[in-house]
Amino acid sequence: MEKLKMIFRVLKKLFGRKEQSENADAVTSLPPIHFSCITLVSTTPSNSQIGFNDFFVVEYKGKKYWTLFQCPCGCGEIISLSLQDEHDNTWQVVKSKHNRPTLHPSVWQNQGCCSHFILTDGRIYWCGNTGSPPDLYDEVE
Ligand SMILES: [Zn+2]
Repeated sequence: MEKLKMIFRVLKKLFGRKEQSENADAVTSLPPIHFSCITLVSTTPSNSQIGFNDFFVVEYKGKKYWTLFQCPCGCGEIISLSLQDEHDNTWQVVKSKHNRPTLHPSVWQNQGCCSHFILTDGRIYWCGNTGSPPDLYDEVE
């Protein structure tokens, strides 16, 4: 009988600790780090060189040209975005204090998986309407 009581006490202790850490997670709830760094290259990598967690920026003579990475949904699609100001659709890559990429604005695939996400500090924040195609007519206006 004494033994059972002890087991119960130990279980209660473990359970109590678990509850505490769950609460702590809820306060600082962040998506996992998907891109842990930015890989600077001077020539555009081929699609087969781009791994699931690779984030490439093509920079030549101090000018950023493109960013390339795999769609974080896992569909295998390579997303390449222009970082050149003179293009109409252009993105900005900023290095966070942890050396991880932050991308402006959000990315919305207009075909295939139609993923819609925001990349901040290497973490993927999925938008509520991900999976449905963007309304291209709205974008043009
Ligand atoms: Zn995808």
